[in-house]
Amino acid sequence: MKDSFGRTIDYIRISITDRCNLRCVYCMPEEGVESMSHSEILTFDELTALCRFMAKYGLEKIKITGGEPLVRKGVETLIAQLKGIEGIRSVTITTNGVLLEQYYHKLVNAGIDCITVSLDTLNPKTFQSITRRNELDAVLRGIALAQQENLVKLKLNTVPMAPIQEQELCQIARFAQHTDTDVRFIEVMPIGMGCQFEAVGEQQVREVLERNFGKLTLCPEARGNGPSVYYSLEGFQGKIGFISAVSHKFCDSCNRVRLTADGYLKTCLQYDTGVMLRPYLREWDEEKLFHALQDGILAKPKGHHFELQGEFTDREHRKMSQIGG
Ligand code: SAM
Ligand code: SF4
Repeated sequence: MKDSFGRTIDYIRISITDRCNLRCVYCMPEEGVESMSHSEILTFDELTALCRFMAKYGLEKIKITGGEPLVRKGVETLIAQLKGIEGIRSVTITTNGVLLEQYYHKLVNAGIDCITVSLDTLNPKTFQSITRRNELDAVLRGIALAQQENLVKLKLNTVPMAPIQEQELCQIARFAQHTDTDVRFIEVMPIGMGCQFEAVGEQQVREVLERNFGKLTLCPEARGNGPSVYYSLEGFQGKIGFISAVSHKFCDSCNRVRLTADGYLKTCLQYDTGVMLRPYLREWDEEKLFHALQDGILAKPKGHHFELQGEFTDREHRKMSQIGG
């Protein structure tokens, strides 16, 4: 499907749960969020039916996210179902890695195309202060297993926090040194809890990396599903990526929509704009579903306005953990 600005929408990010076993400060309040009830959350069969329907209209790529997607039982069953849909070229997952060691082989056997692990620091104290939990060792075991087995592409997502910790950033970047793991640095976005933090800009991270590892050379070929711009470093097997929604707005090439766990199709990260699909999925009315999808996609905003401070009427009220990042 195309939106009203001519952008092709071929990618959906599905939040399969709003629950999480961490409480990252830029994503979720300490006390958590009021969880959706079981009956509100779309079943795996409903999600599969929706993706099969959307694949007829050009959907090709699916990201499974959360909350923490690995806390939803049987996620591997969903992945296998989605992989079986004609026209779907890639099914990937973003996880905080706490349960990755247990789930790695299940995800691989289900056919996952890429696993992204979010990890901001290797310092146990910093990890505790960012995530409010003491799970760094579990995350590191999951990453070690994924690197050792190397059965699918592995990426790391890092949200650098101010004040910038040079050695911690370098430690994270080194995950890309001896294996082809890609490490991506994400600017914290002013959404939900993220509004309380100032983004560490791409430029600052680049300076740290170049000072420690030499020149970052732009990779000409496109990699992945989205806005990450990748660079190579001499002596590194993996790439270094930047997702810089604040300093380098990439809305013109936005190819995605998002689905919350209860079936709301969100068309822009920053705005509430979207449409509730659950009723049409539950009654399985293809005509209504098609029109809801079409209306939602046609109303997709031209872009975000992270630079504007203050409230505007349709600003997103959800936390990032309810959206999926
Ligand atoms: N729980 C999983 C995880 O942490 O990977 C998946 C969901 S999480 C919402 C997806 C991604 O969003 C993570 O990489 C996280 O770092 C990122 N994220 C959360 N809040 C953010 C914010 N305010 N700005 C930028 N990225 C954010
Ligand atoms: Fe949970 Fe992921 Fe949000 Fe952290 S970023 S609180 S792990 S959903």
